[in-house]
Amino acid sequence: MNKIEIKNGKLVVPNEPVIPYIEGDGIGKDISGPSQRVIDAAVEKAYNGARKIVWKEVLAGEKAFRETGNYLPEETLEAFRNYLVGIKGPLQTPVGEGIRSLNVALRQSLDLFVCLRPIRWFKGVPSPIRYPSLVDMHIFRENTEDIYAGIEYMAGGVDAHKLRDFLLKEMGVDKIRFPESSSFGIKPVSKEGSERLIRAAIRYAIQRGLPSVTLVHKGNIMKFTEGAFKIWGYDLAENEFGNNTFTWRQFEKIKNEKGRLDAEAALEEAKKSGKVIIKDVITDAFLQESLLKPYNHSVIATMNLNGDYISDQLAAMVGGIGISPGANINYLSGYAIFEATHGTAPDIAGSGKANPSSLILSGVMMLEYMGWYEAAEHVYDAMEHVFAKRKVTSDLFAQMEGATQLTTSAFADEIIRNI
Ligand code: NAD
Repeated sequence: MNKIEIKNGKLVVPNEPVIPYIEGDGIGKDISGPSQRVIDAAVEKAYNGARKIVWKEVLAGEKAFRETGNYLPEETLEAFRNYLVGIKGPLQTPVGEGIRSLNVALRQSLDLFVCLRPIRWFKGVPSPIRYPSLVDMHIFRENTEDIYAGIEYMAGGVDAHKLRDFLLKEMGVDKIRFPESSSFGIKPVSKEGSERLIRAAIRYAIQRGLPSVTLVHKGNIMKFTEGAFKIWGYDLAENEFGNNTFTWRQFEKIKNEKGRLDAEAALEEAKKSGKVIIKDVITDAFLQESLLKPYNHSVIATMNLNGDYISDQLAAMVGGIGISPGANINYLSGYAIFEATHGTAPDIAGSGKANPSSLILSGVMMLEYMGWYEAAEHVYDAMEHVFAKRKVTSDLFAQMEGATQLTTSAFADEIIRNI
């Protein structure tokens, strides 16, 4: 069978797995083919024909609507369920078609609870910070809860009044400054949802030998949602990963009981023995610190909204959305969809200006997820060479001196030549 499967929590990958892909709208058409060519070349180089990806196109977005009258046909969802691992280009959000966003629909229907975004810098890529080489972070953004659950009521509506009355009369709330004209939003953050996200982040850090996991939260203000996320995270690390982690909470406990010197000695000992340090930082401080001291953070575990803000800031630090990959993963079922993190860029679609790096690097993440690390390394190395030679697409060309501008396809060919 050419299907990737999951057995006892481990992916079983055949030598010629079928990988469903969505071409995507706008620049999706421009970047999909070139990205697949790069991935195929790396797999060929790494395994000499012993392994090969069998690409299977599935429809979503405009193309699906044209051919089937449906933006997200059931067969597409079925293909992702059937083959477990897939990849997609950007999809335009249909206006007024009853679907809020195709991306959100895909994530929800497969319960892809982790949004993973690795943030690394390639030498030569223009960056607004002075030492981009110090940036190497991996964001685990919770993908299913928080403000994104969409529980919102518009000011003046019947539902907003109902909720307001409940809060004022039954819950004894007295701090709504303008109750008559308030809209309301509800932020569900659960123990289960937080734990499965943080568990995935800690496992990832342990498997890759990464030094730390930072829980980023605004628990000083939202004590029972974001604050609870932090507490559940520390509890989980200490209860489930006691042999592999050392937490800042344990540091504080030793400090209070035995003094700072003992706490520092325990921390040093933990680092020496390769334990993952679990720490936490308030979101606003994190946004500042990630610019000033990016080397202090490695894996980031955070809730949905924080993750949204953080992803864009960190992406900007290493070259922007044109080269930022991503994936939506359910580590329990194995379902994973790798995706370009940018949109459909209608302003440059069809012009040969699109940078395919985001989708190529998403494909590299997919190779890593499948355990095909040798092929993944070939792409990283080749991209490093090409960026160092200042051969880039128009988005980066505009910011670089002495660079050569290549079209989307020529840029992919240049990477292939360096594989
Ligand atoms: P966008 O990311 O499409 O474009 C923002 C800017 O970045 C544009 O100037 C664009 O030219 C540039 N850009 C984006 N990707 C690029 C690339 N690979 N190479 C070079 N330049 C690139 O964001 P938008 O304009 O706000 O959204 C357009 C559409 O995409 C909307 O319908 C939106 O809903 C959708 N969208 C989809 C996804 C997704 O599928 N994951 C993500 C974001 C937005």
